[in-house]
This record gives sequence, structure tokens and C-alpha cells, in this order.
Amino acid sequence: MSDKVIITCAITGAETTRDMQPALPITPEEIAQGAFEAYEAGASVLHLHVRYDDGTPTQDVAVFKKAIELVRAKCDMVIECTTGGAAWMTPEERLQPVTLNPEMASLDCGTVNFGDEYIVNTLPIMRQFAQAMRDHGVRPTLECFDLGHVYASHILIKEGLLEEPFHYGLVLNVPGAAKYEVDVLEFMVRKLPKGAHFTAFGIGGKANVDSIYGTLALGGHIRVGFEDNIYYSKGRLAKSNAELVERAARIAQDCGRELARPDDVRAMLKLRKA
Ligand code: ZN
Repeated sequence: MSDKVIITCAITGAETTRDMQPALPITPEEIAQGAFEAYEAGASVLHLHVRYDDGTPTQDVAVFKKAIELVRAKCDMVIECTTGGAAWMTPEERLQPVTLNPEMASLDCGTVNFGDEYIVNTLPIMRQFAQAMRDHGVRPTLECFDLGHVYASHILIKEGLLEEPFHYGLVLNVPGAAKYEVDVLEFMVRKLPKGAHFTAFGIGGKANVDSIYGTLALGGHIRVGFEDNIYYSKGRLAKSNAELVERAARIAQDCGRELARPDDVRAMLKLRKA
């Protein structure tokens, strides 16, 4: 069990809209401000998706570059770029931000339902993503939405495409994939490689809060933010991403866990020196 807990904030995502959550950061400027507030509240990793100014999700390198520069000007958060993108994007499109050499990036470990949509991740696509991340010195977060994805990650490890320390993102409660239930999480954690770090989170209000307690009990890390959940409590929208981070930080500290700051994350996950 790691003693320090990493809080990742997924502040924008690809699915949440301003109509659903009026405080959603959309432009690079808004993303940088939202990230900074989350950082001050205790988050050390920014899970980054970007949008065009009209709110459309994009994997456009220029928009990522701008957002990263603006975040960098405000704080030293570790930046994890998405390569999940949005449901309609091609693998080549999704992979683009890796060319900016972020410290971390998400690597989806299997095809998954996303409500009525789906994201395709065949083993050849996963190998291509893992190789690109190796080439750019990017630490992958191995995102698993289902148990089979954990086993798919074992194949990549066996093939030598991933290097230790491994960091998993266990994403539960996506409609059409595995639900967040504490025994499901516990079982998935048991199937991770020995010594792997993991960040586990349920999608949606109740699952999101429940999963903070579940992952802490199992020695894992936390992720909150508007990509995963827009509510503070039933029927009450969160005022900001930072409000969700503040609560997560409070719960972690109540459980006796110290918060990892960005340089702790760099040491724990052996990130490439930027
Ligand atoms: Zn994401």
C-alpha cells in the first residue's frame, strides 16, 4: 500500500456539456484556471481533454499545447493527456497529444461500451499506443473498464511493451461496462501485477463518492472531476472541480493518508524528467 495518495482531477472530459454543468472548463484559459484551483485543493495530476471554443472535443495538438502551456504557467501539476478522446475519433487522431511528450497519458486497455456508443481498442491499437508512449517517454495510465482489460494489459506486459512501475486507471460504472461495486473493484485490484499503482473511480455521483472510500481501503489513488461526475450530492451540482477535489482530499486525510504533491507523483511513478 502506498502511504501517499494521488488525487487526479479530470476537469473537462469529452461528454460533459455546459448545459449539464455550467462551471465546466472549456477553453484552454478556463482549463488552466480550473486545473490551478484543483491543484490548490490537493490534486496533483491533471487528466486533460481539450475542446474547441464551441465545446466540441478535439485531439488537436495545437489546442493541447496551448492548454499545457497555460497550466504550466500556473502550477507544476503532472499532466496526463487523454488518448481515449471521444467515441467517434480514429486511433491516429486519439494518439496525437502523445507527440507533445506529456509526463503521462491514458491508454485504454480494451474495447468498451460507452452508453449507446463504444470505443474500439483492439490489441494492435493498444500495442501501437504503448509503443508510441515508450518512444516519447510517456508513462501510460492503463485504463481498464472491465476485467478483460486487466488481462489484456498482462499481454502487453508479457510482450515487453510496458515498463514498471505500472499505473492503472480502473474506470467503473460506465453504462454498458462493469459497475462500481466494492467487490468488483477488489477483485480487479487482485488481478493487477504485484506492486502496481492504481487509481480507481466510479462514474456518476454516488459511485464516484463510494469509490473514494473503496480505493482508499485497497491502497489506491483517487480521481474526481466533471468528466466523471458533475454532482456534489444528489440533485446538487458541484460548484467547481475544486469543490470535488476538496472533499476527496478531506476524506483521504481523514483516512490517515497524506496527499502526494506533484513531485511525489513523479518519484512514485518514475516519470521522465521533463
Ligand atoms: Zn478522459
